[in-house]
Amino acid sequence: MIRQKKEESDLSLDKEYLIEMGIDAEWYYSPHHKKINSYNLSTNDFFLFKETVSNCQNCNLSETRTNVVFGGGDHNADIMFVGEAPGSEEDKLGIPFIGRAGKLLDEILFYLGVDRDKSFITNTVKCRPPENRNPKLNEISKCKHHLLKQINFINPKIIVLLGKVAANSILQNATSMNDMRKKIHKDNDYDVPFFVLYHPAYLLRSPLQKKNLWEDLKILENYIKNGYSTN
Ligand code: URA
Repeated sequence: MIRQKKEESDLSLDKEYLIEMGIDAEWYYSPHHKKINSYNLSTNDFFLFKETVSNCQNCNLSETRTNVVFGGGDHNADIMFVGEAPGSEEDKLGIPFIGRAGKLLDEILFYLGVDRDKSFITNTVKCRPPENRNPKLNEISKCKHHLLKQINFINPKIIVLLGKVAANSILQNATSMNDMRKKIHKDNDYDVPFFVLYHPAYLLRSPLQKKNLWEDLKILENYIKNGYSTN
């Protein structure tokens, strides 16, 4: 796999290499994932990377999964969606967001005028947690380098974080959904802006929140129509 020179300060990529070599690198803690676009991968590298992830055994979710749900769509997408974790439908077929929450995500995409095949959709963890429980912190952290590498490769113009688990994990905070919504997050640790939406599964359980969803979507829609810019 060809990689360009990485920044020496980027400890997260060092950790990633260790994990890829099969070395337990959990001790190798990097609080920040600075400048994730510090190296590039070719399309072929991306498919090799997908294959590596499909055999991942970094955490115990690999013991109960049927399929790794790597994510899908266009690896040159302008917009990327990151959910929480695959559910049972997704686990069966290895495709993200195809169950009930996926149908609502399709409506969101339709509202935004975004073709599903022209976006890239993935999750914070790539394997289904048993009984659809929330992913544990150690599972999220062991899977995070896969997500960062996807972001690094796709280099989208915006990443939409679906729900609190994805948002807190990527933005490295413990902030409530209410305080994260309705703004474009520009985090110095990343080269890409983020937008936070309620998770579709949460909206299915709490339909009264849907009015907030449409308010949030208007902001995101304007951002997209404005050429992925607030100016
Ligand atoms: N919920 C998620 O967070 N991801 C999926 O892929 C499906 C449901």
